[in-house]
Amino acid sequence: MIETSADVTKSPNGKNAAHDGIKVVQNYVNGKFTKSRADKFFPVMNPCIGKQIAKVPLSPAIEVDEAVRIARSAFAPWSALPIKERAQVFYRYKALVEKNFQELADLIQEENGKTGPEASAELDRAIEVIEFAASMPQLAAGEILEVSRGVECRVEHYPLGVVASITPFNFPNMVPTWTIPNALVLGNTMILKPSQFTPLSAIRIAELLKEAGLPDGVFNVVNGAQETVEALCDHPNIEALTFVGSTRVAKVVYARATAHLKRALCLGGAKNHLILLPDAHESMAASNIIASMSGCAGQRCMAASAMVAVGSVDHIIKLMCEEAKKIVPGKNLGAVISADARKRIEGYITEAEQQGARVLVDGRNAVVKEKENGYYVGPTIIDNVRPEMKIAQEEVFGPVLSIVRVKSLDEAIAIENASPYGNAASVFTQSGGLARYVAERASAGMIGVNIGVPVPRDPFSFGGWNESKFGACDITGKSSVEFFTRLKKTTTKWNPDSKVNWMS
Ligand code: NAD
Repeated sequence: MIETSADVTKSPNGKNAAHDGIKVVQNYVNGKFTKSRADKFFPVMNPCIGKQIAKVPLSPAIEVDEAVRIARSAFAPWSALPIKERAQVFYRYKALVEKNFQELADLIQEENGKTGPEASAELDRAIEVIEFAASMPQLAAGEILEVSRGVECRVEHYPLGVVASITPFNFPNMVPTWTIPNALVLGNTMILKPSQFTPLSAIRIAELLKEAGLPDGVFNVVNGAQETVEALCDHPNIEALTFVGSTRVAKVVYARATAHLKRALCLGGAKNHLILLPDAHESMAASNIIASMSGCAGQRCMAASAMVAVGSVDHIIKLMCEEAKKIVPGKNLGAVISADARKRIEGYITEAEQQGARVLVDGRNAVVKEKENGYYVGPTIIDNVRPEMKIAQEEVFGPVLSIVRVKSLDEAIAIENASPYGNAASVFTQSGGLARYVAERASAGMIGVNIGVPVPRDPFSFGGWNESKFGACDITGKSSVEFFTRLKKTTTKWNPDSKVNWMS
């Protein structure tokens, strides 16, 4: 729920007395929307038109504490329900997401800037996670075995308690949904801290969960940024924390949460390499590579960012440039999240050019008619990038593909392996043997063979390697059961006639 800032003028500290008519995002605690007592707000923009659409409170630590107290008291009754009853909420929630699909997709588009089809695809993926969570009773069943004569051992998954989920801007509905259904079906209660850039989808998630019958207090939203996240890391009654965002922040959040003895899983940024071999299927490779680098305006942690071209692949690069030119900002290419992001992305391109790289397709200074204030960068392909350049090493997070030329496959693998990240890596070839050779050697958690965005869809789990993920387990799929539960082992003997010691 959002209210106009006129309401905020009534806030006791009086610091928010802006009569600007801008909507103020509220927190959601104990099944109710509550006004934050924050004295700092962050502007929420529509990136397609560069216009402010709301403002979000940067909630202080005291509000995290209040939400944790509520989530803690909701834990006992929620976790006591049989898992099949908890799963029922998510059957209903899935139906509600489908019923409100267009409105939810429009909201993603408005706050994030992606295109309509991209927003719909995001929701489709979110629905898959909800379906998976609804099937959780099959996966989370325990085990039982007669371990000695007349003695059985039974292993059960128990929830952890209150968990926190901190999410980035690039998938305002799907990334929160990576954790909400799985964690809750498994019996935990949750505090979500959405990105301050895209807090609006979380409001509708909360409303629809309530409509689906989720008891009050089981799911709560506390808005904010650094200070709010630090309060979540430090809170003694939060048992586990997941984070999805940049590597820089993932590292500090992981260190801080684990220093407070929490279970933590922090997914970071990426620099995904594609290895293009001369025998690749030309049109399939070209269209896949361009879709991967430009989809969601390159703001995906799975986006192709560096292509290592092995030998003579000019025929495919030519096709890629033709494909890229079909992608038009404002039409089939969305906006990037902010004016700062656009400046950063264009800065990478300009610096690479100054250092001798060749810009084959140039997306700088893109202007969309009637959306002149939007934050657009067109698709950009840069050839002759050297591995030591900043653009070849750092996450650009825009629709930009750097091409590094090498002579051999082993050189290409060495470049991929040298990256500190390890989210995704792909190879384009028609040779099964070469594909396997790359898949075995790439230092990444998610591998694509002739696929530019190799997301392992449910029931398989999502998670990278190296500096793209800190902590054990993956965030979705089967692996999430391990993260969001702890095991209780009960050993039982009922037969008083048995003289056998259970250890025998
Ligand atoms: P970000 O790291 O800036 O922010 C992520 C979250 O951390 C937000 O909720 C934000 O409020 C909070 N935050 C920001 N600065 C903080 C600080 N100093 N201390 C504590 N909390 C802080 O990331 P972003 O810009 O929102 O998202 C883009 C990044 O997320 C990219 O690097 C992308 O690769 C990554 N990402 C990774 C995955 C993955 O699965 N590995 C998925 C999506 C996005």
